[in-house]
Amino acid sequence: MAIPEPLADVVLTGGHVHTVDRARPRAEAVAVHGERIVAVGSVAAVAPFVGPRTRVVDLAGRLLLPGFQDAHVHPVEGGRDQLQCDVRDSRGRDGVLETIRAYAEANADLPWIVGSGWYMADFENGTPRREDLDAVVPDRPALLPNRDGHSTWVNTKALELAGIDRTTPDPPDGRIERDPDGTPTGTLHEGAADAVERLLPPTTDDELLAGLRRGQAYMHGLGITAWQDAIVDEESQSIYRRAAEQGWLTARVEAAMWWDRERGDDQIPELIERSRAGSVGRLRANSVKLMQDGVLETFTGAMIDPYLGHDGSPTDNRGISFIDPKRLPGWVTRLDAAGLQPHFHAIGDRAVRECLDAVAAARSANGPSDTRPHIAHIQVIHPDDVPRFASLDVVANAQALWAAHEDQMDVLTIPFLGPERSGWQYPFGALLRSGARLAMGSDWGVSSPDPLQAIEVAVTRSAPAVVEPAMHTERWEAFLPDQAISLEDAVRAYTAGSAYVNHLDGETGTIEVGKLADLTVIDRDIFERETGPIGSGRILATFVGGEPVFEDPSLG
Ligand SMILES: [Zn+2]
Repeated sequence: MAIPEPLADVVLTGGHVHTVDRARPRAEAVAVHGERIVAVGSVAAVAPFVGPRTRVVDLAGRLLLPGFQDAHVHPVEGGRDQLQCDVRDSRGRDGVLETIRAYAEANADLPWIVGSGWYMADFENGTPRREDLDAVVPDRPALLPNRDGHSTWVNTKALELAGIDRTTPDPPDGRIERDPDGTPTGTLHEGAADAVERLLPPTTDDELLAGLRRGQAYMHGLGITAWQDAIVDEESQSIYRRAAEQGWLTARVEAAMWWDRERGDDQIPELIERSRAGSVGRLRANSVKLMQDGVLETFTGAMIDPYLGHDGSPTDNRGISFIDPKRLPGWVTRLDAAGLQPHFHAIGDRAVRECLDAVAAARSANGPSDTRPHIAHIQVIHPDDVPRFASLDVVANAQALWAAHEDQMDVLTIPFLGPERSGWQYPFGALLRSGARLAMGSDWGVSSPDPLQAIEVAVTRSAPAVVEPAMHTERWEAFLPDQAISLEDAVRAYTAGSAYVNHLDGETGTIEVGKLADLTVIDRDIFERETGPIGSGRILATFVGGEPVFEDPSLG
């Protein structure tokens, strides 16, 4: 029998290979030479690629998938958060305060206590108070944004330093939470936190590099091989560039450059220039992040009809369009014409509509393009707008982990939307049925970047069983189960779907001969029901371009 040329450097064999390639969905083995896949097939078909220097990994019935790609994530910040006062794993108000107290004691020399990751549902009305923070950090200013970054908890020292008191008006892009007499309570929403944030000691490049290094390692450990960083400013772009130049940016990264909403189209030439200079190693910068609204929990998400008040009757608040909706279409048209990808943040149904309208304007002015506009978050989509994703070819960029009943949804969202609009949330099933392209991402540091947990929620519409066992009692039904999607579709969205958004679909996203060997090994075949909740799967290895970037010793 002829010896195939070339012999493989790595062969992964004896497993369940789920390829996401419609032409050959399943295989048993894969051979890799250099950075590319050279064979996909049965154990017997791949065996001839094994030579004396080939590393043979026995998958022993475990699952091999294309590497996950996160289409909306903040890894530099997520990694940096892990290195600061991170309260994500603390439970309840008292647990959070205890974590902060311990961190402050252990870091007595820090001039500020900076952390993040509290959960609105752990605090009355979703808004923690400065007095609580004063009790554990009395001597220094302290600042902690919540998990989604849209509300910030500060202590009295921080408010004093920023000069925020009962006479301070709310800024146009934010709101100071107040007691009835106007005194700030210690929670600042959206742009209201800027006055404190600008007093922080500047983050050093070394801290950002350490954040990226930590974030990348963490994501590789979750099977992620590529991502789109959803907010890249000039500083973080230079951090990525340095990592790429130093040779340790192992992930493939698309940088979404931040659209400065204080400015207009005068910034477009700068964005074009940054994009041109942005390709180094595995780094690209061809996307622009346009943040169109806030979030529903703080009533800053932009809604077509007003939010309801605590008594269930309409208020006069429809949320905030951060970018002037009259100017957005013109700007998006120019970005698209320049070959830059619009990456929108839209949570409320009006924000989603404004983003779709902007792409419609770009399509009619520019004709079809290959910029692949996508809208991230898509929490509330008016039913009339669901089919527009397919017709305008706008990718739906889903953060599926959020599509479940939990306190943030049931206490802080549904009562203020009312029953009809509550039923329009995260309509992934309807989007797929209408022919839309679906990508997935995590929005980490906002929430866990674990793709398996998000995929579990996309399939079950219930919080991941490993994270929230308490939610799997009769109290927590599936959330809008008609919008559940198949495991097949969810895996496709988190691999090939996000690869499309990242313009990496020609080279990655499926397991096919000739493609780059971006792969991940999971300790069980999640397609077999008896293996337990999808989110309990563990990653055993991750390869980018044929090189292992994460390996668990139990891989063998
Ligand atoms: Zn984000």
